[in-house]
Amino acid sequence: RTGSVVLVGGGPGSDDLLTVAATKALATADVVLYDRLSPHSHLADLAPHAELINVGKRPGHHPTSQSEIERTMIEYAAAGSRVVRLKGGDPYVFGRGSEEVIACQAAGIPVSVIPGITSAVSVPASIGIPLTHRGISHLFTVVSGHAPLTDNELEHLAGLGGTIVVLMGIGTLPHLVSGLRRFGAPGDLPVAIVERGFSPSQRTTTSSLDAVVQDAALAKVASPAVIVIGEVVRLAYDGDAEAHILLARAELLARVD
Ligand code: SAH
Repeated sequence: RTGSVVLVGGGPGSDDLLTVAATKALATADVVLYDRLSPHSHLADLAPHAELINVGKRPGHHPTSQSEIERTMIEYAAAGSRVVRLKGGDPYVFGRGSEEVIACQAAGIPVSVIPGITSAVSVPASIGIPLTHRGISHLFTVVSGHAPLTDNELEHLAGLGGTIVVLMGIGTLPHLVSGLRRFGAPGDLPVAIVERGFSPSQRTTTSSLDAVVQDAALAKVASPAVIVIGEVVRLAYDGDAEAHILLARAELLARVD
């Protein structure tokens, strides 16, 4: 039999945010290669016939290299296995999913993609932050903080308005904040940092552009976290959001219409 690879978006971490298609693909998989941020606590139940391979962390804590991951999934598929490559969130949002698709195509392996619920939208939503709201924000930009943005990018981002969502952004937060301020973003623009979304230890820190670097340091904010910058943060309904944010919510809504 010919094997295949299916890249599966695992959603932001809880099993009930897996899609029906993801659940079906796992149920029939022979092999599952999973990441650190993909939901994997109940993988043995979801994929009862599969060999489970953790490519996020191996004994000795060395993550498997990208080329090794690609080589492994191609080898299994070439030998006839149904391979599920389980990724956190959506495979095509900063997940190197397209590189893995291209590698399979180059090797002549049938490959398909099952989209997932991205953390960029769902983690803010989990505490009541909508990325858009009529009259408040009609666009959102999702940015990788993996590498610092250029001045050109910062200038355009500051000028664009709307909501800014940053993934992998804890390390470069000071650079982003000072860049946005330099290009005219207001210092009182609200910021929320949501760590470990959909886990029992989920935590939200709310602040403003001018205070967030200090507040994040005080709270010892750590990855994985989604950073949301924009007026929509005032709509958060989470119990641990600070009172001033919640008070400002009523004022903000009064301004709409
Ligand atoms: N493809 C993924 C993103 C991969 S980049 C997606 O669509 O969600 C990895 C980054 O995603 C993390 O550094 C963090 O910024 C964010 N992230 C993913 N899952 C998260 C979660 N459960 N809680 C908070 N941030 C998360």
